[in-house]
Amino acid sequence: GDVLSESVIRLENVSYSYGDKQVLKDINFSIERGMFMGLVGPNGGGKTTLIKIILGLIKPDKGSIYLLDKPIETFKDWNRIGFVSQKANTFNKGFPATVFEVVAMGLTAKIGYLRFMRKKHKEKVLDAIEQVGLSDYAYHNIGNLSGGQQQRVFIARALVSEPKLLILDEPTVGIDYKNVERFYDLLHELNVKKNLTLLLVTHDTGAMTEHATNVACLNQTLHFHGKSEEYTALSAEYLSEIYGYPVQVIVHDHD
Ligand code: ADP
Repeated sequence: GDVLSESVIRLENVSYSYGDKQVLKDINFSIERGMFMGLVGPNGGGKTTLIKIILGLIKPDKGSIYLLDKPIETFKDWNRIGFVSQKANTFNKGFPATVFEVVAMGLTAKIGYLRFMRKKHKEKVLDAIEQVGLSDYAYHNIGNLSGGQQQRVFIARALVSEPKLLILDEPTVGIDYKNVERFYDLLHELNVKKNLTLLLVTHDTGAMTEHATNVACLNQTLHFHGKSEEYTALSAEYLSEIYGYPVQVIVHDHD
């Protein structure tokens, strides 16, 4: 493995306001290669805004951003950063595209419109489908899959361009408890076996802290940025202070 730690994301003194409402204040935040970072915090704490800044969708009022050690202003390797949004999970029954076709869309960003799909592209698509455990469904219509399976398809679509970092925004919303566990198992596997760096935005701190290596807790400022074990060791009182309302520390046990 790599001896030197390499930062995948680094934010220095980043601040952001919508009009005169300050949402982010002096954020210093980093994700090193191989981390599984859980980003948590109360509603309205600025998580989505931070993700938009990292994806280059909005510019901070001040501060610097580095992606894969390059200043965001000159960063070009956008296909190395995958993004799966909460709203991805919205295909209806009968939607006329197969799993294979949806995952193949992840390649078009890289090689342009696919008039001719070469064998190596087809293999990449099937490999990504295999990585999320959906090989048996490759030629099924996506609309006929469960919410949890559809979310896996979107992960596969992000994986097909071989990202170094995968950002997931509330990916477990609308997925039932049992499938949420399987979903976290998949993320854990991608993190450990494929050395994929993950940034997961979630309000589901219980299940997340079992699998994430690191946690950042955001409410305008970063109240916590460290190892997952250290976060779970924080007292309920301290977390309630950060959140502004009582928080129970729940650690799910499962074997
Ligand atoms: P989170 O994702 O943690 O819930 P957000 O980044 O979505 O937090 O929002 C942070 C704050 O910024 C909230 O108070 C929200 O109302 C406000 N906000 C978000 N988007 C906008 C916008 N486009 N214009 C004005 N205020 C916004």
